[in-house]
Amino acid sequence: MKIWHRISFGSKYEILLSQLNVEYERGYNHDDTYSSVVFSIHESDRAWPEIEHIVKKDESFDFPYTTFEDEEILASEWVRLCTGFKRYYPQPKHDMKYVKDTFSDECSSCGLEFAQKAPFRIKKEAKLGKYDFVSLNWTYGIFATQRVVEKVQQAGLKGVEVWPVMLHREDRPSEVISQLLFPNVAKPGLADYEKVDPEPCLECGITKYAFHKRGYMHIQHAALLKNVDAQHTYEWFGSDTKWGFQEILISNRFARMIVDKKWKGVILNPIKLIEET
Ligand SMILES: [Zn+2]
Repeated sequence: MKIWHRISFGSKYEILLSQLNVEYERGYNHDDTYSSVVFSIHESDRAWPEIEHIVKKDESFDFPYTTFEDEEILASEWVRLCTGFKRYYPQPKHDMKYVKDTFSDECSSCGLEFAQKAPFRIKKEAKLGKYDFVSLNWTYGIFATQRVVEKVQQAGLKGVEVWPVMLHREDRPSEVISQLLFPNVAKPGLADYEKVDPEPCLECGITKYAFHKRGYMHIQHAALLKNVDAQHTYEWFGSDTKWGFQEILISNRFARMIVDKKWKGVILNPIKLIEET
């Protein structure tokens, strides 16, 4: 496991970053000038203490995230299936009209979308290159190539539905990708100490928590449904934003398939099961 930080610094630190052997990109403005540099660094990097000092001093942009080794993923009974590769926009994109067409309900206060009622639509046929999974921009849906779908169905994974993705112009299903949906929802089980920045919504009654960023997420064992290979968490995440989602949890068997087949496009984050909070 590595804890990473995506950081943006003022361009005055360019020379220092070079001296510390930290690879960075320039953050260009519209007029081709640049005033910032962006980079990712993990906490076990030798340069981290110095970088951390500057982050604190300058209050720099700092978004932490965690990556896990395959062995850590395979050792976990349940794994968070997170979006990775993003491409395409749900249609009709204008004024986000797709939300009303695709979901039964949307909370006008906190922005959560509920109960998908129709397939997502994309402009034209998908081209994924080396990826087998993709998520559409603005969504937390998981879309997969036909070879993933076939394997999921052959293996008889439980709790995974396959829906078509429609090509908007031609009004026919994509031959390249389908959506994987996970209708099951666990019981409340997020560890109390993981309930960061709770944000209850008066309109829909749902409480969102901060996105999980560091290390393993902790969930009570007893909250999870048995006999399925995929389920959503009861809890929603996304405080301080106008959207949010329930984490998708997949079984070791499902995660092992993704690792073994080396399918790219999603991020697997193992969770730790606890007996009580
Ligand atoms: Zn709401």
